[in-house]
Amino acid sequence: MDMEKILEMARAQGFETVAPLDVSTLKFLPEVRDMCAADRCQSYNRSWSCPPACGSLEEISEKCRAYTSGIIVQTVGKREDEFDFESIVEVNELNKKRFNALARAYSDAEIDNYAMGSGACQLCEKCTYPDDKCRFPDRMHSSMEASGLFVSQVCKDNGVKYYYGPDAICFVGCFLFK
Ligand code: SF4
Repeated sequence: MDMEKILEMARAQGFETVAPLDVSTLKFLPEVRDMCAADRCQSYNRSWSCPPACGSLEEISEKCRAYTSGIIVQTVGKREDEFDFESIVEVNELNKKRFNALARAYSDAEIDNYAMGSGACQLCEKCTYPDDKCRFPDRMHSSMEASGLFVSQVCKDNGVKYYYGPDAICFVGCFLFK
């Protein structure tokens, strides 16, 4: 596995931050996972990528244990204030676009990876959950939060800034590699 190539491919998508991730810092916390059930993002039980369909914390942490290295990616954008939902949606869309394109690029290059993004999988306009099987089981991904990861702590533990000031928005994802 060529980490420099992996980092370069991520930078090519335009992420504001691309940094190595030490997989030993990943802690899969039930209290983070429990926040999904509070349904603040309105994705709980509405997507194959979110709890409860995405699998238990034990299953996810077991899967991640097979990977030995990783990277963190961030999309950082501006907002006028905390009620500037238009900018939040725009930055989120940009992040999803970059994230999905990078996951595709790694797959096309046959680089085995496990991706955890920000928010529910949005590969399809409308998720098939729960009526039909996932359309792209090999390409869908869960969020870091759905995986029990405390995003700001993961950033901190890897020397990556998370808070960029009151007028900034930051979306975070990570990729693990063997
Ligand atoms: S790939 Fe489509 S069907 Fe599968 S989890 Fe993502 S949005 Fe849902």
